[in-house]
Amino acid sequence: MSMNDVIERSNKVFMNTYSRFPTVITEGTGCRLKDAEGKEYLDFLAGIAVCSLGHCHPAITEAVCKQAARLVHVSNLFYTEPQTELSELLVTHSFADKIFLSNSGAEANEGAIKLARKHGGENRYEIISLEGSFHGRTLATVAATGQKKFHEGFEPLPEGFVCAPFGDIATLKSMITQRTCAILCEPLQGEGGVRPLEKGYLKAIRDLCDQHNLLLIFDEVQVGMGRTGTLFAYEQLGAVPDILTLAKALGNGFPIGAVLAKKEVADAFGPGSHASTFGGNPVACAAAIAAVKTMLADGFLEMVVAKGEYLFQKLLDLAEKYPEIAQGVRGVGLIQGLILQPAAVQHGNAIVNRVFEKGVILNFAGNTVLRCLPPLVVTLEDIDVFAATLDEVLGEFSNKQE
Ligand SMILES: *Cc1c(COP(=O)(O)O)cnc(C)c1O
Repeated sequence: MSMNDVIERSNKVFMNTYSRFPTVITEGTGCRLKDAEGKEYLDFLAGIAVCSLGHCHPAITEAVCKQAARLVHVSNLFYTEPQTELSELLVTHSFADKIFLSNSGAEANEGAIKLARKHGGENRYEIISLEGSFHGRTLATVAATGQKKFHEGFEPLPEGFVCAPFGDIATLKSMITQRTCAILCEPLQGEGGVRPLEKGYLKAIRDLCDQHNLLLIFDEVQVGMGRTGTLFAYEQLGAVPDILTLAKALGNGFPIGAVLAKKEVADAFGPGSHASTFGGNPVACAAAIAAVKTMLADGFLEMVVAKGEYLFQKLLDLAEKYPEIAQGVRGVGLIQGLILQPAAVQHGNAIVNRVFEKGVILNFAGNTVLRCLPPLVVTLEDIDVFAATLDEVLGEFSNKQE
């Protein structure tokens, strides 16, 4: 099958939900991907913050192969060692006492929403989320997502979700009612355009939750698991949630998500309250155990911080060199975004496509920023290659704008 064959045949049989790069990826190692024609790409997207240890990291491959040869699946009517070990690791290294394992980010958020409602009790079901947020594609998580474009065509959405304007604590406060049970937010909005919530703002949200007896849910599906330079983003924000959701990088490419909670919150669930057939699958758990252990090894997270600063500086240099295209840089650790000028956002996708032609994979998020999500194992040399490529492309677009 030639690459064009695969693309044509796929377009015939696959629902048209994705805008894809015109290539067929066949292999990956570290920060590099290879397509069916042998062309190599430097991957600054990492499966959208999933393959944080790079593609086919040997520790993950070994753990997966070993577990797959032993036990692939058994229902949650049984205990398994990988589930126990992973849950203990997550509990030991977080604020949480209890874990529920799911298969994806949306499913983790669904679990968090259900837990918050169950904990809230009768008539306390409303969840306040933030404008610009992204929480998933199931109906409830779409309802929680604070971006209209994800709602269109799917109404009526489940009730009980309200959206507060970003960065406005007074309006958020005014939206709290007798029915409110939780506030849900990403400590740093990923899809919304790499937009961190300021420490003071998060602290004020935490205080509101305490004053009104609400649960604070952090969606760290994208920014958890070492992405920001700490295992969880909340560790450096001075605000600890009551419920935390994880997925994306948790299994380094194996589908797995998790809901973490304190005991008194988790106790709202009892046998039969919630379940998932595949949740906590032994192979996915084995991958996640290897991923968490690798991230917790000496010096790993410190390296993420150092490489994040290096990438930030490279992007800042580009923003200064091309002020007509870029207005600045924002992000934490190895999630960084080059913010485009309002007049340049129309070129966002074209810039990404041109960078792709030159062998680098990047993404345009929130219709505002070029989002960099390299594997956390990226090297300084990789960052140099990335920056040089983006420099060339921004140069081309800068000429076009004149
Ligand atoms: C990707 C993402 C989700 C959804 O995760 P899926 O695994 O695609 O369901 C939810 N929240 C955030 C912040 C995300 O980035």
